[in-house]
Amino acid sequence: MSTTSSPEFILLLENVNKAFEGFKAISDLTFYMDVGELRVIIGPNGAGKSTMLDLITGRTKPDSGKIEFGKDADLTKLNEPQINQLGIGRKFQTPSVYVDHTVFENIWLSLEGSRSVWKTLFFRVTVQRRERIFEILKTVALEGKAESKAGALSHGQKQWLEIGMLLAQNPKLLLVDEPAAGMTDEETHKTGELLLSLEGKHSIIVIEHDMTFVRQIARKVTVLHQGTVLCEGSVDAVQNDERVKEVYLGRKKKN
Ligand code: ADP
Ligand code: MG
Repeated sequence: MSTTSSPEFILLLENVNKAFEGFKAISDLTFYMDVGELRVIIGPNGAGKSTMLDLITGRTKPDSGKIEFGKDADLTKLNEPQINQLGIGRKFQTPSVYVDHTVFENIWLSLEGSRSVWKTLFFRVTVQRRERIFEILKTVALEGKAESKAGALSHGQKQWLEIGMLLAQNPKLLLVDEPAAGMTDEETHKTGELLLSLEGKHSIIVIEHDMTFVRQIARKVTVLHQGTVLCEGSVDAVQNDERVKEVYLGRKKKN
């Protein structure tokens, strides 16, 4: 099999296209990401950011192009659960936690190998599992909330819990769509620290609007515009790019 993918890429998209009723949401998109990278994707509303995640996770299928995970997983041929099984976890904008269960139970129900609730009901919480759950709770700064009902958490804490639930599945690639939306400044900063603490252990794509937050966590930034990559580089390079300024200023003028 001939492929242009190099072994160190965790994710490769080449010349990907996706139209919805004739409207090109994704247009000749090419994107590469290294193992262990923390990548931030920015871009105006409607740029195709969420659609890009839909294409990676199998929620939407491309009209054409290549989407590969690691060396030899062709994601265009797999469905959503299969892609999730490979180790791609996604956090949507609105948190979906089990509100009537405790924080501890929420992580427990999400643990690797215990995805079915039925199975989980008959699993004992072994010492190892308990340790793993508390390790995750510590990572997401919720160890003091283990016995609280998830429904009683603040919006920010629910978002962290959901990130913890994703971590419980031990994903290789974590996709996080606008985690700071609706958060206070303090919660946003803590979310940044949380994502930075995961760097290297997981490969992470973060989609975000809040430029203070982007500045806090960004290594390499990809700017998406009209379904394709407008430019890529450091936060400074990207913010000083004339095309990027035009896209954002142009949009402001219209509003
Ligand atoms: P972003 O996340 O960057 O704001 P989206 O990926 O949500 O942008 O959307 C890109 C464009 O594709 C938008 O114009 C949106 O209306 C359109 N789009 C996204 N998903 C669908 C869909 N399932 N059906 C029709 N149009 C869609
Ligand atoms: Mg979006």
